[in-house]
Amino acid sequence: MPVSIQAGKTRILPVSTLCSPVSPPTARKKRVYHFIGLLLIAVVVVNHCQLTRFNSLVKNCKEFLFSNDYNHNNEKLCSQYDVLVPKNPLWKIVGEGIGTEEFKGRAVDWLAGAIQVPTESYDNLGPIGEDPRWETFKQFHEYLFKAFPLVHSTLSLTKVNTYGLLYEWKGTDSSLKPVLLAAHQDVVPVEPRTAADWTYPPYSGHFDGTRIWGRGASDDKSGLIGLMSAIEILLEGDFKPERTFVLAFGCDEEASSRFGAQQLAKAMLGIYGRNAFAFIVDEGGDISEHYGTVFATPGVTEKGYLDLRIDVTSPGGHSSIPPNHTTIGILSRLLVEFENNPFPVEMSTDSVFYETLQCYAGYGTTMPSDLRKAIVRSVYSKKALKRLGDILFENPANVALVGTTQAIDLIQGGVKSNALPEQAYAVVNHRISTRSTVLEVIKHDTDMLKSLAYEFNLTFISFGETISDVHAPSAYGSLVLSDAFMINNSLAPAPITPTFGHRARPYELLSGTIQATYNSHRGLELESHHVVVAPGMPTGNTDTRRYWDLSDGQILRYNHRNSLAFKDVAGGMHTIDENLPVEAFLEMIWFFTTLILNSDESRNL
Ligand SMILES: [Zn+2]
Repeated sequence: MPVSIQAGKTRILPVSTLCSPVSPPTARKKRVYHFIGLLLIAVVVVNHCQLTRFNSLVKNCKEFLFSNDYNHNNEKLCSQYDVLVPKNPLWKIVGEGIGTEEFKGRAVDWLAGAIQVPTESYDNLGPIGEDPRWETFKQFHEYLFKAFPLVHSTLSLTKVNTYGLLYEWKGTDSSLKPVLLAAHQDVVPVEPRTAADWTYPPYSGHFDGTRIWGRGASDDKSGLIGLMSAIEILLEGDFKPERTFVLAFGCDEEASSRFGAQQLAKAMLGIYGRNAFAFIVDEGGDISEHYGTVFATPGVTEKGYLDLRIDVTSPGGHSSIPPNHTTIGILSRLLVEFENNPFPVEMSTDSVFYETLQCYAGYGTTMPSDLRKAIVRSVYSKKALKRLGDILFENPANVALVGTTQAIDLIQGGVKSNALPEQAYAVVNHRISTRSTVLEVIKHDTDMLKSLAYEFNLTFISFGETISDVHAPSAYGSLVLSDAFMINNSLAPAPITPTFGHRARPYELLSGTIQATYNSHRGLELESHHVVVAPGMPTGNTDTRRYWDLSDGQILRYNHRNSLAFKDVAGGMHTIDENLPVEAFLEMIWFFTTLILNSDESRNL
């Protein structure tokens, strides 16, 4: 008897499709009934197991769906951890200091001074010591030394590979696992042709009374200077940590992080050992409004990465006697195949974006009711899950949060208008879904191009493996797939940081810290929830791509940047007019202060 599972219930369909027009003999009939009986039992058992696993979420979703009282039901879709206020009285004293005009002036000067040193990083930077473009980092280190005297007289500093900065603030209790706080010194270069389009010169650090302007104001000098400022003012208050804090500042996050974070990771593995840190906090998610509600979304994973290079060769010659397809023509046909076959994307209940959606549905006051229903119902209905994907994946930004993406970003071939090109290549940039792997992506691309390689009679080699038939008659040309820039530049998707259960203590601590910072900075009732913390799914990568071995998967990408402050003026990250409202910067300093005090007081990390 065929059975379909719908909306959490077992529905029995008519048996007509299984019935034979002629009645079978009795023994055969018995066997058929026996088989159908077993099948039915199996389906019921499987269905029961699935329901048991999701039972409480399903129950909560149904209760939510049939209730109009959102205030009392939202917790069931997206539970929130308690607000965590540091017990140390210094917290209040430092907070009052941050609220003064005098401190605002110091904070502006700290960040503006850092912006004024143009620590640009480039994709093609040569080794440190050889490429003169690294020189500005020396100047940046001198600036930090002058700006933060107590940090430099109290913390120990190791320079890793000359420009990677590794500070250690030694705690008095060596039994407590240290915490790693990260940021990056480098900024994306200012495109020289756009320098004149900036409202204020890109490296001026100009303060207009509200905003601090310049490259790095948001990404990520505010993170680095925010951290240094928090520690400087804690030291001014005579704070001595019991837990050790380590600061790691990379110098080429905007490029490959090979010279900075990769070397810092090696150094930290040597000094502290594998999984030595309780958790890591680096740049990432922010505070922003979704569906009428304010959310903070710490990034709990990162997508994988692969730059796929496609090389095609075929015979050259005079272009007055051309073949049907030149090397460039063949490469173009291959690229069309990519764009005609995007990676399939499906909504799944185990993706981080799905968890974020549950929080949006639980708390977003202006979420359209059909979307809210699709999210809530999708927990127990595959049909609703599919419908949810259909609604959301109309927007490419949502596809990027869940699926593997591809973008043809580079192409080159040909040297002269009357000569047939012998070689041409292109690079396809892949961002790999957290539910996939680098190998799966390579296999997908290889399988997709097989028939075209055959059609054009090309020897096909994919990542060193010969795919085409080695006994085939001599080939017309070749097709080679490889990693575009260097060996092992590819990156697997990052492990997902736990957000519930006994391993979620770092996430719980961060959530409580976000709430405490948000409330106290706005003078709101301390213990209430005024911002919803939801697990976030970033689309880009950070220096933490190099730090997986240091904290047993406990990586949180968040620096409390208030994106709501950019409602009227765009933030300009990676483009012209990058800026940061001073109010948002002060709140970042306050966040780092609260995070350090809470981490120091916690005994269950
Ligand atoms: Zn950054």
